[in-house]
Amino acid sequence: MDNDVKDEAYYRKLWTGMFPVRLKVALEDGVLVNAYCPQCRFCCGPQAEEKPFPMALLDRQISARTPDDFYLLDSRTASLDRRGCKSLGPSGCRLERPLRPLACGLFPLVLVNRRLYLYKICPASMLEPLETFQAMAAQVKAMLEALPAADVERISIFRDPEDLKAKYLDLGLDVAGS
Ligand code: SF4
Ligand code: SF4
Repeated sequence: MDNDVKDEAYYRKLWTGMFPVRLKVALEDGVLVNAYCPQCRFCCGPQAEEKPFPMALLDRQISARTPDDFYLLDSRTASLDRRGCKSLGPSGCRLERPLRPLACGLFPLVLVNRRLYLYKICPASMLEPLETFQAMAAQVKAMLEALPAADVERISIFRDPEDLKAKYLDLGLDVAGS
């Protein structure tokens, strides 16, 4: 979910001004609850990158309404691109949690190349202690490793590690799947 070419200092200033008070960030029932999201909406909005950000859907999340909820790369993969996400509303995501791609429930933790990264220009990533995300990433790793390896493969995004350096922090946790 990349959507700008500005540097980290730009975002730190932006988020510090927008969020003078620290908000809740916690992993609850396998979902990363991030109270910065409704006001931020940054990673759900229009993306600057040419390459769409794929968000795999689970079979149980796919129905006749899916094309109304998402721009699609294929019938099982939602796409986040220059148009932003179709489900982004004025107060954040308009979808009930079970309908959101698994990636959305983990962000700003991101599974890339079957390894956990932190999207470091998210306001929560910038304003909350790194240790908070490291601890949550360890729990997410355990949670994902309970999934079949094929599912882990499916939900993992594939990117050249060199392309990740600007916006993603490598948390050093590989996810194998069972
Ligand atoms: S950038 Fe972070 S705070 Fe903003 S919408 Fe995305 S996950 Fe939420
Ligand atoms: S489904 Fe919701 S949380 Fe996920 S990218 Fe779209 S608007 Fe954001």
